[in-house]
Amino acid sequence: MLERKSWGAVEVEGNSGRNGAPVRRDWERAEAEGLYALPFADLLFHAQTVHRGNFDPNHVETASLLSIKTGGCPEDCAYCAQSVHHDTGLKATRLMDRADVVAAAQRAKAAGATRFCMAAAWRSPKDRDLDQVCDMIAAIKRVGMETCVTLGMLTPKQAARLADAGLDFYNHNVDTSPEFYRSIITTRTLQDRIDTPTRVREVGIKVCCGGIIGMGEHVEDRAGPVCLNRISASISGASAGVRPPRGAAED
Ligand code: SF4
Repeated sequence: MLERKSWGAVEVEGNSGRNGAPVRRDWERAEAEGLYALPFADLLFHAQTVHRGNFDPNHVETASLLSIKTGGCPEDCAYCAQSVHHDTGLKATRLMDRADVVAAAQRAKAAGATRFCMAAAWRSPKDRDLDQVCDMIAAIKRVGMETCVTLGMLTPKQAARLADAGLDFYNHNVDTSPEFYRSIITTRTLQDRIDTPTRVREVGIKVCCGGIIGMGEHVEDRAGPVCLNRISASISGASAGVRPPRGAAED
């Protein structure tokens, strides 16, 4: 059912959620900028309205994240300490052994986590790497946990292999707006990046996706990822440093 609701200056139209709260996945740039401009308390209220209409309001999901292959990434993302282009002093590691990863998942489950997320610092995985990650996913499913991985950009075939292994979620950020992208990353294009969530969705894996703010972008750039990939922006800052948006008053 399509609904239209007016929230102050922002009109929202979309499919009804569990209790009729609309969930939008087709934001236009001007609409996303309108949301950004809402007073904080209004924004919080609207976010709570959508959340409560679609989820148990007091349930907090518990996930544990493990870096299974750290550093040495050939990409030059300005915010990331794992890039070989930045002298961060980080020592690159090889892909962890499956037994060590499974042991970490068992500890996480014993501590109360229900989802186990594995991160590898790759531009994109080689097929032999994917063999090992698929084995890890299958083993962690046997532990009785949901699985999530973030491995960089995937081909359609690689996405299908992860689905066959039983992967539940794929994490893949789309970084920033099209206009600001080259200021943050030069070793790939935005189109390279946004192909992967599409491929992952097509094989039935759920997508965990966000953007990054605090990198010196304009306020308008913060609305960009919302429209690009139908996401909510997450907040992060690393080697690019956390900076106010351009045009904002600096103390
Ligand atoms: S692709 Fe990922 S791991 Fe590699 S530099 Fe960018 S953010 Fe870091």
